[in-house]
Amino acid sequence: MAVEESEVPAFDAIAGHDDLIDWSSAYAREARREWLLDVRLDLVEWEVSTRARRRAAAVKRPEIPEATVGEPVEWERVPDSDGRPLPCTISLSWDAFEAFSRAEWESTLRHELLHVEQFQRDGTTGHGAAFKRRAREVETDVRCRAFATPKWLFRCAACGGEVARRYRDCAFVREYDEYRSDCCGAALVRSQPE
Ligand SMILES: [Zn+2]
Ligand SMILES: [Zn+2]
Repeated sequence: MAVEESEVPAFDAIAGHDDLIDWSSAYAREARREWLLDVRLDLVEWEVSTRARRRAAAVKRPEIPEATVGEPVEWERVPDSDGRPLPCTISLSWDAFEAFSRAEWESTLRHELLHVEQFQRDGTTGHGAAFKRRAREVETDVRCRAFATPKWLFRCAACGGEVARRYRDCAFVREYDEYRSDCCGAALVRSQPE
């Protein structure tokens, strides 16, 4: 990703909710250009949720009466709208961010941006045929996967005991051969579950 604003942290340096929103909204701007997403990001708000939940992210949006996917809504006829789409919110799960690799997080954001694209055009959104087609085009999943599986598992080479699990590439993942297990003082064995 081309970093366009110096205050956007590196993905591996994201340390808190503000960082996560800064990084994710910068990625959204990049993805909008790269994948030709028809979204108005000035009408998108961001939040981070720390509530445990199964979905990695979600779009919170107002209900537009009689809106149907595939039928563009006439925003000027929608109450409270000044002719523009009503604002919606991309809600990010901190737990999912912790669990996902960068590529998985980017894919998650593209999935949510497709919901925004649909909502801003049709006033509603779902996972139907139109969504599936767009998901293929922007190389994201129709359903977000569960995020409980770590990317890397580290075991003691002597006794096989689990020493650590990591959810994405970090210094420990790269330099694990310099560490020894607490149990046996042995080298670590790295594996990738499923
Ligand atoms: Zn979805
Ligand atoms: Zn051991």
